[in-house]
Amino acid sequence: MIKVNELLKTDQEHIESITSAFIPPIAVVSLSQDAAAVLTPSVSIGDTVLEGQIIGKDSQRNACIHSPIPGTVTDIFTASMPNGKRVPSISIKLNGAFSYLGKKTEKASWVYSPSTQRLKHLCEMGVINTFDVPETLSKQMESVLKKQDGFLAVRLFDKDPSVQSETCTAEQYVHEILEGAALIADTINVSSVFFLYGSNNWYVPQDTDVKMHFKSTPVYFIPVETSLYPQGGVAEISELINKYLQKNYKKKTGSIVLAVDGSTALASYNAVVKNIPYIEKIVHVTGDCIKKQGMYKVRIGTPIRNLLQESQGFVSEPAKIVINGLIKGIAVSDLNTPITKYVNSITVLSSKDFADQRQTPCIRCGRCHEVCPASIQPEKIYFHYFSDVSIPDYVLNTAKLCTECALCNAVCPSRLPLYQTIKLVQGKK
Ligand code: SF4
Ligand code: SF4
Repeated sequence: MIKVNELLKTDQEHIESITSAFIPPIAVVSLSQDAAAVLTPSVSIGDTVLEGQIIGKDSQRNACIHSPIPGTVTDIFTASMPNGKRVPSISIKLNGAFSYLGKKTEKASWVYSPSTQRLKHLCEMGVINTFDVPETLSKQMESVLKKQDGFLAVRLFDKDPSVQSETCTAEQYVHEILEGAALIADTINVSSVFFLYGSNNWYVPQDTDVKMHFKSTPVYFIPVETSLYPQGGVAEISELINKYLQKNYKKKTGSIVLAVDGSTALASYNAVVKNIPYIEKIVHVTGDCIKKQGMYKVRIGTPIRNLLQESQGFVSEPAKIVINGLIKGIAVSDLNTPITKYVNSITVLSSKDFADQRQTPCIRCGRCHEVCPASIQPEKIYFHYFSDVSIPDYVLNTAKLCTECALCNAVCPSRLPLYQTIKLVQGKK
């Protein structure tokens, strides 16, 4: 592990509130909100749609896609997305009355509804799990239904320390996240639930609140030292949980059957308790070019350009816009790229804020394997892959231990794409 302040400038102020972003006049909604699926449009050009109406679905039980605004479908076309892919998308022009915005919603009780009904509802309401690669939550839950004795882990901090969206969401929606996690835990019948929190501003809820939602399921709250990186992957969280159980309860260890982030627990709460589809996302807008960093509740499909205009403009000419954090994020050049369910931050950088990105030959400094938490030798695997330099099998086999933390990339002075190469090697093995 490495200290975050050796990796990033950490002079960000803590954000304490979430602002509702303006409703976009045009929303462009990707038909691929999940890593695996491109859904089929269920509307045509010229159709009138309601806020929250299903506009994309498939027969594979992937999470449905909804119109984030009321309006008219003006186009179905291929658009660039924040993950760098070009995918079919639906353009909707704002028009008409809102079904959810400004309306009071009643709370529904889920306690007596059968698991199958809750899973169906999560799918129809479009909930995806953004803990790691975005995936349909109900499918992940179905796949673990029969596993005995597993844990549910809920991560309440950001895996990338340059981002604050999960931390802020956890602070603002404590009770909603608790109840969302409780309904997930109850549906898949886990033996224990672990909340891992990193913020000094997050307070463990009172016992009575926890008992009200989780009944007899044991619930643990584990503070995480987020000034070290990497933290927050399944491997790191498993280790923390098992150490915690050993230290505090001298208990046998167990394994995580499902890991979600706070946003996913919140989306589950909105879907099942409030009957609101996944049409909004909390996004952190930050970077040295931004006049005022902020946390925004944004409609899915809002162009990045609109959100940046709300941050009171730029202090200097932006040189780079990075989605989802500085460590593993992706740079986008098109400001019309829309917000999707898997976007949690936009960082706008000036040229002084990032190093020269040109790749140069390896200088054999050894930094990449010094920092690697899995004791991999990334530079050896890189050379083997690109020049067929032979390396022992035991070194090559370590590629499968990679936790995809991207620390090797972050420290490499030659800017070599080490972690991406290790992913390619994993794919070949
Ligand atoms: S090789 Fe994998 S685990 Fe090691 S630093 Fe790189 S990304 Fe992280
Ligand atoms: S950090 Fe980069 S330059 Fe240094 S040994 Fe690894 S690959 Fe080579």
